[in-house]
Amino acid sequence: MNNAYALKAAKIIAQEKDYHEHFLVIKNGLIADISSTVEQGIPVIPLGSAVIVPGLIDLHIHGREGCDVMDASLESMHTISSSLACHGVTGFLATTVTSSWQETLDAMQIIGQSATQIMPGAQVLGGYSEGLFFTNEHKGAHNEQYFLSLTPERIDQLITASNQQLKVLALAPEINNACEMTRYLAQRNVKVMLGHTDATYQQTVDALDSGASGGVHVFNGMRGIHHREPGCTGAVLLHDTNVEVIADGVHLHPAILKMICQLKAPEKITLISDCINAGGLSDGDYQLGKTDITVKSGIARTGSGSLAGSTLTLEKAVQNLSNMADVQLRDAVHMASLSPATFLGIEDSTGSIAIGKKADLAILDPSGTVHATLIQGRTVFNAKQLAFSVQLQHLTNNS
Ligand SMILES: [Zn+2]
Repeated sequence: MNNAYALKAAKIIAQEKDYHEHFLVIKNGLIADISSTVEQGIPVIPLGSAVIVPGLIDLHIHGREGCDVMDASLESMHTISSSLACHGVTGFLATTVTSSWQETLDAMQIIGQSATQIMPGAQVLGGYSEGLFFTNEHKGAHNEQYFLSLTPERIDQLITASNQQLKVLALAPEINNACEMTRYLAQRNVKVMLGHTDATYQQTVDALDSGASGGVHVFNGMRGIHHREPGCTGAVLLHDTNVEVIADGVHLHPAILKMICQLKAPEKITLISDCINAGGLSDGDYQLGKTDITVKSGIARTGSGSLAGSTLTLEKAVQNLSNMADVQLRDAVHMASLSPATFLGIEDSTGSIAIGKKADLAILDPSGTVHATLIQGRTVFNAKQLAFSVQLQHLTNNS
């Protein structure tokens, strides 16, 4: 059993329930057991008051620490990957933003490469095309100069450039052929998310009936709810479909966060960061794709005042949702792990703490700060000041 070890923590947020003062046994990179005792001979790493949660999965993230997916560079992807691991993220969809067609294809190509290799931190689970196929009214930070019509040829080009790693494409339901293109994408295993749109309730319902999977950052960048025209927002909230939520306390009022959580089952809510290249850096002037933005007090806006992504981290989103929307911590955690894993269809192997799944884990202190991140039982981030850090590094990387 020298490739096995156990983590002992004050709390383990497992898929079925929370365990207290239990051992999480990891063998060959998989979760082998959750138990109150541990077999003799298995090395134990005591984590004291720590909380072990599943590794977080960010379905919608543009960049971090000065690097953007649109840089179309492996180096930038490495920086983003490492930076995300410091925040408990073990997997993410690299998300593009509206730019020229060629720059979009270039970014997709690097996403495809990144998704098929081992990254230093969080792994690239595929690509998310956010951009190009939107309309002006709720464009946010997307530069309408580059908007294009959506055609089967363009879809094929994106899929090919990404080396079949394109997982999600966002579009506005009111564009030409939206329903037809939604069916075309669904047949090619690309999920359609609806956003940056002025679509009516009915236009949105039609897209959902054609196979669209939900709403991009719900409420933000879409027609809001009017009692005689419930809009895209009303449609994605009412229907049994996925919604992305930015829980930074800025994009959505705490009361709206609460309302979303009362309306939707937890497995249909996905916490996303929508983080941009300014994430992890100080306030100042940045660019999101082709748009100049200013970050002040951590809030990113375009010159016209539109919110432009965020500087949020996912572990903070979990804390925020739990605090602001009266959601149990275990539900909030699973909205950033099991929900996105289920959305991607990888929930059998990751996304929660359950026996037989990969040991993709984040170790938090009781206040929610990430102390370590493990992918398949190996540390990809380990805050140096921790007493157990040397032992954790040694054991997990030799397992
Ligand atoms: Zn957006």
